[in-house]
Amino acid sequence: MSKEKISLVVPCYNEEEVLPYFYEEFQRVAEELEDYSVEVIFVDDGSKDKTLELVRGFAKEDERVKYLSFSRNFGKEAAIYAGFEHADGDYVAMLDADLQDPPSLLPEMLYAIKEEGYDSAATRRVTRKGEPPLRSFFARRFYKLMNKISSTEIMDGARDYRLMTRQFKNAIMQMSEYNRFSKGIFGWVGFKTKWIEYENVERKAGETKWSFWKLLLYSLEGIIGFSTAPLAIASVLGLIVCLAAFIFLIVILVKTLCFGDPVAGWPSMTCIILLLGGIQLLCVGILGMYLSKIYLETKNRPIYICGETNMETEEK
Ligand code: UDP
Ligand code: MG
Repeated sequence: MSKEKISLVVPCYNEEEVLPYFYEEFQRVAEELEDYSVEVIFVDDGSKDKTLELVRGFAKEDERVKYLSFSRNFGKEAAIYAGFEHADGDYVAMLDADLQDPPSLLPEMLYAIKEEGYDSAATRRVTRKGEPPLRSFFARRFYKLMNKISSTEIMDGARDYRLMTRQFKNAIMQMSEYNRFSKGIFGWVGFKTKWIEYENVERKAGETKWSFWKLLLYSLEGIIGFSTAPLAIASVLGLIVCLAAFIFLIVILVKTLCFGDPVAGWPSMTCIILLLGGIQLLCVGILGMYLSKIYLETKNRPIYICGETNMETEEK
């Protein structure tokens, strides 16, 4: 009987400092999982450093190493998608190159799928040690909010690190949207997921690619992609303002009829105009955000462009 295969998908963007450590760890884990054939697919997301050269080097000496290099930086989500597209293992895992997702958890994750009957094993951090406090605070708020306004369940502290069956992976590939938010996509497809908890591990080397600003934009991506609640906010705000205006109208009418004095001061007028203007802009803004997503989605652009690979690709 031939061995079952595990494919590890690793997105890399400017990871020259940490890749040698990762490769070492990969060899160790592959040895531990000797009953399986393990392959690793490095997806170079348009790195500007020596990442691609390093990966080419690994691939030359080790036939378990596959790689794929983008023509420019397309983002981690695109890298994951590309890796999945080429992963043909019976089990597929995705993990970061910086060893924040310890490959040593893989045997435990495999056990959950094979013996305990789960379709995927995912990881979540129970601590956020080593992270700026402000970032942790906003991250927690984000998960709370997201779970309130979206029917897709998103686990607090969930990492993208996950092992899944081929069936689970195929379900994810069916979600071929352009605006990709993995945490939401994983929740959306359903199936049984086991959550494995572990303490936050700090990056082995190199630097994080996520600034606070980038994370904020990413969280908006999540909200817009998996909830339509902001659209409802616009309608509710409109309704409240209408009601308030109606009550205000009656008050002024009664006041004028009883006491005369129709001309009240202009400051109150200015405030009202500003308030209404603000609310209108906010609502148009919300509409605009959804519209921009629709716009990008309808263009139907490819999610990534491959520049170089050592795997077979179908010409599209
Ligand atoms: N990454 C990527 N493309 C990007 C940004 C990041 O492929 O545009 C990869 C990166 O190489 C790493 C993973 O995504 O393997 C997570 O990035 P990072 O460690 O910087 O994020 P953090 O762990 O700080 O959230
Ligand atoms: Mg990291």
